[in-house]
Amino acid sequence: MKILEFISEYEIINKVKEIANNIKLKNSNSEIIILSILKGSFIFTADLVRELFKINIKPEIYFLNAKSYDGFNSTGKVKINDNLSFVSGKHVIIVEDILDTGLTLKKLYEEVLKNNPESVEICVLLYKQRSRNFNIPIDYIGFKIPDKFVVGYGLDYNEKYRGLPYIGVIEKVKNEKLINGL
Ligand code: 5GP
Repeated sequence: MKILEFISEYEIINKVKEIANNIKLKNSNSEIIILSILKGSFIFTADLVRELFKINIKPEIYFLNAKSYDGFNSTGKVKINDNLSFVSGKHVIIVEDILDTGLTLKKLYEEVLKNNPESVEICVLLYKQRSRNFNIPIDYIGFKIPDKFVVGYGLDYNEKYRGLPYIGVIEKVKNEKLINGL
C-alpha cells in the first residue's frame, strides 16, 4: 500500500491563509465561534485559528465529536452527543475537514440552527465532487477534489496517517488486501 501526495503542504498552508482572509472579509465586526468537528478537522482548525489570530480575528473555539466513517466507508449514520446551547445568539462557523456525502454537516447544521444562533457559516477544507441527495450552503471551500479516499492533514484511515503534513491518496498495491490497522 502506497500513499500518493495529492495536495502539498505548501498548497495547504496558502489555502488556509486564503480562507482566513475570506472569513475576515465577511466577519470583521462579529464575534465568532468556531465549531470544529473531530477528529479529522483538528489540524485544519489549529492552523486556521492561528491564521485568523494573525489578522486580528480571535474566535472562541469548540470541538464536537461526530463519527460517520468506518474504514473507507460512510456508515450513513451520524452521532452528535454534545449540547449545543452555547451557540445561542452567536455567529457560528462550522469547520469540517471534508464534505463527502454531506450527512455529517447536514445533521450538525440542523442541530446548530435549533439552538438559535445569530448566523451559521460552513467552512470545509476539502469538497468531494460527487452527487448528493441534499444541499447545504457551504461558505468557504479549500479544494474541490475527485471522489477518492484521502488521508493526511488530520484525516485518517482507521486512525493512521493523521500526522501526514500533506493530503494523499491511498493506492492499493496489486493483489494487496487492505486490513484494519495497517
Ligand atoms: P460525510 O458525512 O460528508 O459523508 O463525511 C464526512 C466525514 O467522513 C468527514 O468528516 C471524514 O471524517 C470522513 N470522510 C469522508 N471522506 C473521507 C476521506 O476521503 N478520507 C477520510 N480519511 N475521511 C473521510
